[in-house]
Amino acid sequence: MKYEHVPLTDDHIHIDPRNGRGIEAAKDFLRAGGTHMFLVSKPSSCLGVDPGKGSDYRSVFDETLRIAGLIRETGLVVFPVLGVHPAEISRLSERYSLDEASGIMKSGLDCAAGYVEEGLAVGLKSGRPHYETTREIMSASNGILMHAFTLAAELDCAVQVHAETGPCSDMVDMAHAAGLDPGRIVKHYATPDTPLVPSLLATHEAIPSLCREGRRMTMESDYMDENSSPGAVIGPKSVPRFTRRLLSEGLITADDVYRIHTETPSKVYGVEISL
Ligand SMILES: [Zn+2]
Repeated sequence: MKYEHVPLTDDHIHIDPRNGRGIEAAKDFLRAGGTHMFLVSKPSSCLGVDPGKGSDYRSVFDETLRIAGLIRETGLVVFPVLGVHPAEISRLSERYSLDEASGIMKSGLDCAAGYVEEGLAVGLKSGRPHYETTREIMSASNGILMHAFTLAAELDCAVQVHAETGPCSDMVDMAHAAGLDPGRIVKHYATPDTPLVPSLLATHEAIPSLCREGRRMTMESDYMDENSSPGAVIGPKSVPRFTRRLLSEGLITADDVYRIHTETPSKVYGVEISL
């Protein structure tokens, strides 16, 4: 099938002019055929921010929005997603009590929610540690995640979760308890076994079979844009490049491309995706 110009959306990417290639990486995405990106705020530590209260996250979020503005000048459509990286609990709880650390992260999410309310961001980012940790930290993290779900329900917005590998099925009940439609929860770096909306790495081998099953999903590069660890992730061109490859090899159809890049992200985030 001949490739036509259609929306190609990266559901989770970072662009960081301070520590990485910045706008050049965004231009790579554009040149590869990318059109829309969900630009996710980086952990506060990546920007040298050491939060002691929720409003300290403001500089992280303002920087993300500033970068979004620069990227838009290239012609790309950018949807910012702001929040608090779940691993921050480990760093914060070295300096603060677990209660204080949770409080800082929850008020960081309150701060992010303010940006969503103003229409400056389209969703929240939260989660729980994806690594082995104590039961206390995990329970505090679930409390923070519940706070994010509650805010998202109030704002009627999506949440991207970064959590342990696997289905995270318990988050469906958590969402219901918070009054949030689980269909608005995107599992970042997902495996296909999740009942949440999976955002699959562009190179994930299950994409064609999930398409055949008619499963909804999105695609991401999780490009970090860190010069210090260039090999850690796949590059900024990955989503458009692998989509076009799967299409040209007949492994997915044009309808699948539409569902992955236009229909699903539009519905999940409540945004308009078109050319
Ligand atoms: Zn990421």
